[in-house]
Amino acid sequence: MRTYAMTGGATGIGAAVKKMLEESGGHVINVDIQESDIVADLSKHKEREKAVEKIREAAPDGLDGFIPSAGLGPAVPDWPVIISVNYFAAKVLTESLKDLLMKKKGAVVLISSNSAPLPGLDENLINAILEDNDEDKSHDLIKSLDGHNAYAGSKLALTRWMRQIAPDWIADGVRVNAVAPGATMTPLLQQGLDDPGYGPLIRDFTVPTGDFGTPEQIASAIMFLLSEQASFCCGSVFFVDGGTDALMRPDQF
Ligand code: NAD
Repeated sequence: MRTYAMTGGATGIGAAVKKMLEESGGHVINVDIQESDIVADLSKHKEREKAVEKIREAAPDGLDGFIPSAGLGPAVPDWPVIISVNYFAAKVLTESLKDLLMKKKGAVVLISSNSAPLPGLDENLINAILEDNDEDKSHDLIKSLDGHNAYAGSKLALTRWMRQIAPDWIADGVRVNAVAPGATMTPLLQQGLDDPGYGPLIRDFTVPTGDFGTPEQIASAIMFLLSEQASFCCGSVFFVDGGTDALMRPDQF
């Protein structure tokens, strides 16, 4: 049986991935702050360690895939926690599970965002996260910035980290890729829509295909990247956003 570990499978995109994996016969070990196989608050170092330990107990023979989907949106008022969950938890868990993924030549799909390449992000913050790998420093810096920097900055750093490791990790048999969703109708997006500051901005975002995405539309792309059909995909950033990125950055390729 194929065995997968994931985070954030309680709701939204993660829940859709979990359902698709289970329907295709896979066994899924989910870590979430809400009810799940392993309950952990991934913003906290100790809880990350506990989650890794429990995944190891549940999948001693290895993992066919890992999908760190847990994330917080820009409207969450605790900006340091956004960075901790979106970047540091995703990175630390992925690194900690590499040996289990190597056992089964597994695949990792990280969740970026189509907001990651948008201009105006604070480079000092990105450097503190990505180059310095300094969670405390990133927490200090974000206090004088905003939720957009916390969200898009953590997603940009995560995507760059993915691009840095993908060529090396495939030498160990582990394929790493990312999806970059656009606005997708989940509790995270709803929180943004309900926010007086972010709500109007999100509604103004043009989605060429029409509506916001569904969790299933993002999950389908994740399922592809996890599958053998994607065996030549390595270090890819798969935009699944109804054409918004193409509309906003047509020449940046
Ligand atoms: P969601 O809120 O439905 O799901 C997020 C999940 O993460 C939830 O199950 C939640 O309980 C879990 N979580 C939150 N904080 C946690 C913590 N401290 N510890 C453990 N688990 C925690 O949101 P979603 O839209 O499905 O988001 C999934 C991923 O997709 C996130 O990484 C998000 O940044 C990304 N994304 C979403 C959109 C969108 O428009 N919905 C767009 C781009 C990227």
